[in-house]
Amino acid sequence: MFDKILIANRGEIALRILRACKEMGIATVAVHSLVDRNLKHVRLADESVCIGPNPSSQSYLNIPALISAMEITDAVAVHPGYGFLAENADFAEQVQKSGFTFIGPDPDVIRLMGDKVSAIAAMKKAGVPTVPGSDGPLPDNSERCLEVGEKVGYPVIIKAAAGGGGRGMRVVERAEDLINAIAVTKSEAQAAFGDGTVYMEKFLQNPRHVEIQVMSDGQGNAIHLGDRDCSLQRRHQKVLEEAPAPGIPAEVRKQVLESCVQACIDIGYRGAGTFEFLYEDERFYFIEMNTRIQVEHPVTEMVTGVDLIKEQIRVCAGEKLSLTQEDIVIRGHAFECRINAEDPQTFFPCPGKVNNFHMPGGLGVRVDSHLYSGYTVPPNYDSMIAKVITHAEDRETALARMRVALSELVVDGIKTNIPLQEELVRDEAFAKGGVNIHYLEKKLRI
Ligand code: ADP
Repeated sequence: MFDKILIANRGEIALRILRACKEMGIATVAVHSLVDRNLKHVRLADESVCIGPNPSSQSYLNIPALISAMEITDAVAVHPGYGFLAENADFAEQVQKSGFTFIGPDPDVIRLMGDKVSAIAAMKKAGVPTVPGSDGPLPDNSERCLEVGEKVGYPVIIKAAAGGGGRGMRVVERAEDLINAIAVTKSEAQAAFGDGTVYMEKFLQNPRHVEIQVMSDGQGNAIHLGDRDCSLQRRHQKVLEEAPAPGIPAEVRKQVLESCVQACIDIGYRGAGTFEFLYEDERFYFIEMNTRIQVEHPVTEMVTGVDLIKEQIRVCAGEKLSLTQEDIVIRGHAFECRINAEDPQTFFPCPGKVNNFHMPGGLGVRVDSHLYSGYTVPPNYDSMIAKVITHAEDRETALARMRVALSELVVDGIKTNIPLQEELVRDEAFAKGGVNIHYLEKKLRI
């Protein structure tokens, strides 16, 4: 096992990783920007290193500074968390070349999954269901593009192979608009991602977002840890998640879960990963894989009882998976509300000083947060300040528990989205389960 891990992240996920390391008896190195010197995990880590000024480009995304920090502290591995460099194949490669371990899959696998065209091809090969589409990049030939459009059937969506974060996509309703839409998406993709490759998919009208958690040791062993529903989104940002996804027929679920496990083995996947799907009319359609731990991993931890970060660290240290598929039993239901420092009406970020912070508690309530009374939320990073997670024997009780938990939560001094979350956990359609990815934005418009 690793002696010392450097945590290349900040906020709640840095604290989450620190806790896992401490339980495992692994020494920790926190890295931080200037403004982040008072972060909770920085205080709790065995060592800390300031890696640069506040802008992420000069600190959390600064690869030479991170590698130097590993060298001077004798850390042997780096945990990237999510966001920042977590899915950056060049970072993973430089870490390896410098003689350290990147806690995640091999750089080649990150690259394979980072390009959506190659990712879809690899998944198709493994038997994972994909969205009907162009089966590869769109050709530079208008007539052939129109043929593909005709075959797929309108509406279609043009997507950048290198796209991410909800950017580089365009819906096309009619054949007349296709050629222009391809040209615009191509040039946008070239400008934004340095790669103008685009492909086509059928545009699904009212899907849900359902994703599958996997863990694999890169030694031929892989398991799934069930699914999550993350359909409540605003501008492609998840707001409230749950596990398991409600109302999915057992046979449909079983097939897709098994295909994801097979895909992990086929691509030699190592670590924690998530297969993201659109789900419509009892069918799953793969859209992309995230080769890292995700924000919403706690709902899976609550229903499976598995510590995903500890298992991720173990398999990336070269150990075999400590669990078999039979060990994974889904118990009850869990919800996660993301608490953001933002105006609940305008969604504008609201950084500032938190005068008082009170966490909810009780049976089946978990709060992952780096906040404390007197902490100042800086304006430089993501606005998420806490995740409130509840777990109970059934969905209804877990949701009732979330209502109580949110009513106890106090973040005093800054604006937060707690009022929005309180409304969502009281929403009738959401309580029934299975709302689609447009539900939240439609609700916000009225
Ligand atoms: P990104 O990597 O930018 O997040 P994704 O491929 O995951 O891109 O797609 C982001 C979102 O765009 C999806 O969650 C969904 O809301 C929408 N989307 C993507 N592909 C389709 C599709 N074929 N049909 C309908 N909606 C889609």
